[in-house]
Amino acid sequence: MGTPLFDLTGKVAIVTGGNGGIGLGMARGLADAGAAIAVVGRNAAKSAAAVAELEQRGGKAIAVAADVADGKAVADLVARVKDELGRIDILVNNAGINIRKPPDALDIGEWDSVIATNLTSAFLCSQAAHPAMKEAGGGKIINIGSMMSIFGASFAPAYAASKGGIVQFTRSCSCACAWAADNIQVNAILPGWIDTDLTRRGRNEIAGLHERVLARTPAARWGDIGDLSGIAVFLASPASDFITGTAIPVDGGYSIMG
Ligand code: NDP
Repeated sequence: MGTPLFDLTGKVAIVTGGNGGIGLGMARGLADAGAAIAVVGRNAAKSAAAVAELEQRGGKAIAVAADVADGKAVADLVARVKDELGRIDILVNNAGINIRKPPDALDIGEWDSVIATNLTSAFLCSQAAHPAMKEAGGGKIINIGSMMSIFGASFAPAYAASKGGIVQFTRSCSCACAWAADNIQVNAILPGWIDTDLTRRGRNEIAGLHERVLARTPAARWGDIGDLSGIAVFLASPASDFITGTAIPVDGGYSIMG
């Protein structure tokens, strides 16, 4: 029998923002495939609940409190995961926020906080995890983009800039002269409209958003966080060893609608 393509037994994954929403959906998939999970977030109660849930599913998980936009906190979190779980094979850069305002109303502090949380964090976490992945003989980095990696939105200038940046950062890390030589594959997922706390707030703030999403999504529904579990396992597993630098929409067809 050959090596199972989707088996993550013995692997260790860091999932930023793994305590809720899309991050939790991906953490469930990775844990079910056998990986131990470090759930990273700022809200300790939410992280503890996510760890309890992952353990209940039969997985091993720890909670690590950190602000992923803070370089020192990121260095500490990576050191702690290495110390407690022994290695780092998979990094999911998922933590993200949005501040919904048009470009003329967004102030520099708001711009900076969105870019730091959504984009700079991916750089900080990837750079910090890189030595452990190299030591392990390879690794998988999964960056979370958005439909706004492709499209613009009047209410999301910093968010769209951060998500466009995520795709270019993914490509740069994937280059043979960067981390491909270390057997690290780096890919992005571009989720469509997924029902989470983030988009529930968006639905409240943007009139008509709910109806527009339904009308444009061929699947005719909002995504569920479970819709992200499979792609996370795929991009974290040997099944994707020859895939790097891509940005894969998981959007019920939203991005192919004219
Ligand atoms: P949620 O608001 O449900 O989750 C966001 C997560 O990020 C939380 O777990 C939060 O944890 C964590 N987080 C936020 N800021 C920080 C920080 N500074 N340090 C550490 N953790 C942080 O949103 P979603 O699940 O919807 O979003 C997850 C990702 O998916 C984001 O990158 C988002 O942009 C992206 N996305 C979402 C889409 C959707 O339709 N929902 C569509 C496309 C992309 P805590 O509060 O504990 O810090």
